[in-house]
Order: sequence, then C-alpha cells, then structure tokens
Amino acid sequence: MNRRYRKTIIAGNWKMNHTLSETKAFAEALRAVIGRPKWCDVVLCMPYVNLVPAMRQFKDCSVSVGAENCHYASNGAYTGEVSAEMLKDIGVKYVIIGHSERRQHYNETDFTVNKKVKHALEVGLSPIACVGESLEQREMGLTMEVIHYQVKALFAGLPEEKVRHVIVAYEPIWAIGTGRTATAEQAGEGCREIRAVIRQLYGARIARSVTIQYGGSMNTENAYELLAQPDVDGGLIGGASLQVPDFMAIIKAANQTTE
Ligand code: PEP
Repeated sequence: MNRRYRKTIIAGNWKMNHTLSETKAFAEALRAVIGRPKWCDVVLCMPYVNLVPAMRQFKDCSVSVGAENCHYASNGAYTGEVSAEMLKDIGVKYVIIGHSERRQHYNETDFTVNKKVKHALEVGLSPIACVGESLEQREMGLTMEVIHYQVKALFAGLPEEKVRHVIVAYEPIWAIGTGRTATAEQAGEGCREIRAVIRQLYGARIARSVTIQYGGSMNTENAYELLAQPDVDGGLIGGASLQVPDFMAIIKAANQTTE
C-alpha cells in the first residue's frame, strides 16, 4: 500500500447472502468492535433490497454501503435491472462492476463492463471494477495479457479526470471462493501490472492515485501478507466478509500494514 497517494479500501462482497435481519445483527455486532478505522475505508456491498436499511444501520460505524452491480442505461425496458441513478439517489457510493460471477453467469463482457464503469462515474458512483484471469489462462502463461486487455477495456474512452475515482480489483478467478489464495507475490504482481497499464494510458501521477485491491480467498490468516504488498491497496472480500470477527481481523490487518 501507499497511503500517501491513494486510499486503502477494505470492501466486503456479500454476494447473495444475508437477509435483512442478518444484516441488522451484523451491523450491531460490527458497531460494538469497529471503532474508527484509522488507515482504511470500509465498504460492504450487498443485495439491492437491503441497501436502504443497511445505510441506516451502518451509519454509526464508519462503513459505506455499496451495490454489487448496476445497469449501463439510466432507465428503460430492462426488467429486473437497477440503474446507477437509482443507486445514487438512495445514497449509495460504491458499486461492484464486472465481478467474475457476473461475467460467468450473466453475460457480462469487457464491453458492458466499460459501459457500466463510464455510466457509474458519470452519475457520481465509485465503481469497483473487477479483472482477473482464469486458471487455464494462468496455466497457459497468459495472465499479464489478460490483465492488459481487461484493464484497457475497462478504461476505454474514460476521461483523465475520472480515473482516480475508479477502484480496480484484481481477482484471479481461480482464487475466488475456492480457498486457493494467490501468493502475496502473485497478488502483488497482478496489482503492479494493473498500475503499469494505467500508467501507460494516463501517466504516472494518475496511476499512483488509483486504489487497486486484491480479491480471492483473502482471510484472517493471509490478509496481512497480501495487504503489505506495495501495489495492493486493500481487498475485495467474499466469504470472510460474512462474519464480523473475520471481517474485523482483515480491517485490523489493513491498519497494521502502515504501522
Ligand atoms: C469475491 O467475491 O470477490 C471474492 C473475492 O470472494 P472470496 O473472498 O470468497 O474468494
């Protein structure tokens, strides 16, 4: 991490987990232990239906609430979808875009990811945009090519002044929900490469201002080592964000890496 130039962000991705009552119980338990995280911003991304009550429930514990997806259009005939404008209007600040589960199950492509990132930024949301290679791509030695392509695609046509509002999450697909974490070196290398692509596109000053997270089976055991990598500015955390003690331990690890 490099807190001089950019924010450290610990973000939970609850996926399709936690009912409203479970969300309330989580907020109460977190409020009792979180204090005021000194060195990192904390975000919890959760299902749409719980966003409004959760914003109230998490208000006193310095946690921002985020969504897990949004559409690239402002409104229209897209049954079942939610627009960035709708999220902004209820007070949401962050939205995950292009998670590999959405790419895999809901036809999300680099093209739609780019459209969504641009639209979310226009509306004033901070997108957490996910990129990362599959196991096959890694085994074929194509990791860096995939990262280059996906990062270039997600930033295509994005004006310079918007770039620092994008958070990029490096999420190797083989490490998501599998318990198989990237080594600290692999995580650091992926995030470094993402920053190198942003540098090529926008120059060094802008590249160093972008928060780049690692995601993929981050847990209480490996968080410190992963977060201590110079280009890893936080985590996008699935499974380990569902229980307060685990999530809290990761927040503490993020705070310790600066001390
Ligand atoms: C994720 O959902 O983005 C993720 C990284 O999940 P997990 O931490 O469970 O691997």
